Amino acid sequence: MMVYPGNPEVVIELAQDIECGASSNVSKMSLGSHTGTHIDAPRHVFKEGEPIDKFALEAFFGPCKVFDATSEEKQVSLYFVESKEIQKGDRVLFKTKNSERGFETFRNDFVFLSGEASEYLAKKEISLVGIDYLSIKEKGSKDNRPHTEFLSRGIPILEGIDLSRVTEGEYVISAFPLKIEGADGALARAVLIED
Ligand SMILES: [Zn+2]
Repeated sequence: MMVYPGNPEVVIELAQDIECGASSNVSKMSLGSHTGTHIDAPRHVFKEGEPIDKFALEAFFGPCKVFDATSEEKQVSLYFVESKEIQKGDRVLFKTKNSERGFETFRNDFVFLSGEASEYLAKKEISLVGIDYLSIKEKGSKDNRPHTEFLSRGIPILEGIDLSRVTEGEYVISAFPLKIEGADGALARAVLIED
């Protein structure tokens, strides 16, 4: 599967194999903590930041707003987020052109959340932010606000979601990260449930 450049490749192989006489199949998995759909914890960008297992779980389940940002060319802009009804405590996901382009191969020009928009949403104290690519931040950019604005406030970032079959609207989200002690991030199974 596609991984962010420089991150570990995903390797899954059978460590015990019924076909080779074992009584059960057991796989050995090797992968990065920011693989596929995952949650970023403060420790991802802050040395002494809280790890994934210390997040309160409330943010990962409940009402959620999906905004169609497929009109945004390069980044989800401040102008775009300002025009939306977003309040304190909201869980907010952005569907961008990334979902339309698919996730077969990594592309450097993925749509990200702008630094200004990140600052605006973090100051609004939303409870969860999500975007449909492996990073919320522009590749190679010095503007770290898409990470730091949220994570310094303890707002989890959900990355790598596939919204190709999701339309704008309100849903219930369930996206609990795996509880891995001390981890800077963890895989999540994210689903949107229609009312
Ligand atoms: Zn990440």
